[in-house]
This record gives sequence, structure tokens and C-alpha cells, in this order.
Amino acid sequence: MNLTERWQGQPIAIATMHHKEQVLGPAVERAWGLRPIVPPDFDTDRFGTFTRDRDRPGDQRATARTKALAALEATGAAIALASEGSFGPHPALPLAAVNYELVLLLDRTSGLELVGEALSWETNYRQATLRDWDAVDRFAQQVGFPDHGLVVSLGNPAEGQAVVKGVRDPMLLQDLAMDYLARSPDGTLWLETDMRAMHNPKRMQVIAQAMDNLLEKAQSACPSCDWPGFWITQRLPGLPCEACGWPTALVRVHRWTCDHCGHQRSEDFPQGQTADPAHCPACNP
Ligand SMILES: [Zn+2]
Ligand SMILES: [Zn+2]
Repeated sequence: MNLTERWQGQPIAIATMHHKEQVLGPAVERAWGLRPIVPPDFDTDRFGTFTRDRDRPGDQRATARTKALAALEATGAAIALASEGSFGPHPALPLAAVNYELVLLLDRTSGLELVGEALSWETNYRQATLRDWDAVDRFAQQVGFPDHGLVVSLGNPAEGQAVVKGVRDPMLLQDLAMDYLARSPDGTLWLETDMRAMHNPKRMQVIAQAMDNLLEKAQSACPSCDWPGFWITQRLPGLPCEACGWPTALVRVHRWTCDHCGHQRSEDFPQGQTADPAHCPACNP
């Protein structure tokens, strides 16, 4: 399927109110000649917010799809693009924060759905309860304020406390901090990084990486039915140890699957023939 032939000159609705069109728009224009439009007054907060005052329905892919469908509805376009991010401790390393971004492109006419992903350790995602201005100032410097915005609150915003989002002005930060520290019953305030894309350049970069991943997948066509998005769906371990041949936890096989016809292909040894003995449970228990 030639996507440029199919899409050239057509509108694509970008489901965002946080200026993600700044990175997503030029990408789809360059790749396929699509015409990005943003639905007017599109409220993506109803699909969940980072400050946890509203919960997020479904998993990330389902939420992105719901946003894309709402953008199709709002604009009458046949193609939409939505993105959805999450932050939190890495499953294996609970002290390190990671940012996972997903972008989803939906073509209502063909039923094509493409998904791009990116995972980054380069995130300033952080929350803290602080008791004085010095601590606030230090936090602000460490997370890259004022290029990156802050959320200032009397207490955890999840508990419905007074909250100001998108703080980028040093004078405003100082005024809010002094006011909240004086008013708070226990003499503390809640500070966190604003993770909405337009207040967080680090996150915007990860969204751009997820978009690159989507573009790469779009160019990979199924060898059987030519449907775009033929990609790795399983990574199977068992790469043999270089010294003793014992199967290790490293990847031995990539399995590729077509979303459309179900065609599968196995790719043996995608990352080399043998594993370093350092990864071997027999040589290096
Ligand atoms: Zn196929
Ligand atoms: Zn070994």
C-alpha cells in the first residue's frame, strides 16, 4: 500500500491541546504530504491528566485510540494522530524514572492503525513535599526550570488540593511558594514537574522519537499482503553462550507479525550468533 499516494493532500486531525502538533505536524507533512489540523477547543484532559486529578481510562494504546476517534469525530477527517505518555519507576529499577511515549495513527477508510513507541531515561519527572524556599529553589534548578514548567500545590493534587499548573515564571514561583508555605497547615508545599508536552521540552523530544518509530514501521510492509506496519511482536530469549553453548536470557529470535493478515516471520540471531559469557547462568552464575 503506497501511503503517500493514498494520503497526499488529505487532512490529518492531531488530537492535542498541548501543542504536540509542533513535533507531530511537520513529521506527517514531510512523510506523506498530509495536512495537519487541530480540532478547535479539543479537551484532552477528559482522557486523564498527569496530576492525577482525573484518571486515565484503559491502557495507553486504548486511550490514544479513543483520543484519535474523538479527533475524527470533531473534525470530520478520515485520518487522525494521537499520543499518550506515561511516567513512573522503571519495572526493574524502581529508583529510576522512565518516560514511555506512544503515538497512534488511525486511518478510518482503510482501518490501518500504526503505533510508534519510545522509552527514555532522560526525564525530569519528579514530585516532592518541601518545607522552605531553599528546597523549592534547589528542586527548580535540578529539573530545568523555567524551560520546564512546574506544578505548585498546597498538598498532593490527587487529594484535590489547590493547584497551579504550568508555572514558568520565577517571580510567580516565589510568590506561590511563599504564600503556600505560609498557608499550609503543616508548613509544607507540594512541587512537581509539569509533564504536559508544551511545558516539558524533554518529553517533547521523546514524543518526536516515538513519531520516528511510527514512520519507520509505516515503511515496513508485510511480505505477504503489503500492509504497512510489519514489525517485531515477540523477542524470544535463548541466545547460546559463546563459551559453553548454554541458553542465556539474551534474544535469539525476533518474531515479526502482520496486523492485517497474521503473516509471521522468524528472524534468527538478530543481534549476533552468541552471547558474552558474562550473561551465561552456567559460566557466570
Ligand atoms: Zn499481511
Ligand atoms: Zn556459558
